[in-house]
Amino acid sequence: MSERVIPLIDQRLHRRAATVPAQPVAPTGLLGDALGRPLRDLRISVTDRCNFRCSYCMPKEVFDKDYQYLPHGALLSFEEITRVARTFAAHGVQKIRLTGGEPLLRKNLEILVEQLAALRTTEGQPLDLTLTTNGSLLARKAQALKAAGLQRVTVSLDGLDDAVFRAMNDVDFPVAEVLAGIEAAQAAGLGPIKVNMVVKRGTNDDQILPMARHFKGTGIVLRFIEYMDVGATNGWRMDEVLPSAQVIERLHRELPLVPLDPTAPGETAERWAYADGSGEVGVISSVTQAFCGDCNRARLSTEGQLYLCLFATEGHDLRHLIRGGASDAELASAIGAIWQGRDDRYSQLRASLPPESGEGKRRVEMSYIGG
Ligand code: SAM
Ligand code: SF4
Ligand code: SF4
Repeated sequence: MSERVIPLIDQRLHRRAATVPAQPVAPTGLLGDALGRPLRDLRISVTDRCNFRCSYCMPKEVFDKDYQYLPHGALLSFEEITRVARTFAAHGVQKIRLTGGEPLLRKNLEILVEQLAALRTTEGQPLDLTLTTNGSLLARKAQALKAAGLQRVTVSLDGLDDAVFRAMNDVDFPVAEVLAGIEAAQAAGLGPIKVNMVVKRGTNDDQILPMARHFKGTGIVLRFIEYMDVGATNGWRMDEVLPSAQVIERLHRELPLVPLDPTAPGETAERWAYADGSGEVGVISSVTQAFCGDCNRARLSTEGQLYLCLFATEGHDLRHLIRGGASDAELASAIGAIWQGRDDRYSQLRASLPPESGEGKRRVEMSYIGG
């Protein structure tokens, strides 16, 4: 039994008021952070609730019936989210990913999708609009999401074996329903679909090959994610991480692979093609290979806190500004100044942090800011 770290402080309360800088920062689409990284990708968490209890994300021991989720009034409304997203687009964001918690639990999500689909990049193009889901409600919602303007979905699935999958989601949810959700998404045209599998050594690493065989040749891109030390509650241990290099080695032995070039700067996945031409797989090596150097992602929490890194210990309170009556120009200046001050690069620094530095116990949960 691994030791669990139960947070003593509620990290959601740790926030810094976002302020309007004296010098306006006009949105030119060319914003750079303190390390010269542009702002291209915004991940928006639309709920902190989930119907799964994946132990690496929302362990049952912590997220139990007494856990206090955000009250409804704390959540950004769809109009507030769209206003923030529009400002980010003016600053150079080209891609928006809806996440959570489980985003499909947010009521009438299609209405938000419709509003976001109407936004444009600084070049006048529609944003790349995607959603990450555990797939449990996808069969029911795929058509409506597509009709509202969603382009693609990424579905998280940690195994094909029903017993392994039920244990991973820890609410006894059957794998067949997620597979039906993926099929519905494909039929609705929400592709190219990606499937993300978090690999925990000794728990679901026997699912790597069955998953690869299942999705090979379907047009669906399977990606293996290293189990990360996000948040403060999952009891993360390095010996449960299976390095991506070993995932590739195991695959390559059975299903020969050839490396592919990255498609976009800041892309998190390393891509490989099946040598027989039947598609591709990817690995996301957040632990063993830092990709902070070109990290262009910002995260907006369900209640409007802006996080500059997945491992941040503090958010910037945009809701306070919005509800305090800030003008569009003031909101743009505040966001611009926050990004200009960004120097986060946790994954690069991870190896040099003392293990008992206490940093880990203060980090915000992934279910709160989204993946
Ligand atoms: N509920 C949705 C889902 O599971 O797809 C969206 C939110 S979830 C927080 C986003 C992604 O984060 C999922 O693909 C999940 O597997 C991944 N994730 C959560 N905790 C993780 C951890 N400790 N290490 C690596 N990936 C993690
Ligand atoms: Fe829920 Fe997604 Fe976290 Fe699993 S990874 S507990 S499905 S939010
Ligand atoms: Fe980006 Fe932070 Fe992850 Fe580095 S650790 S890649 S800065 S989110």
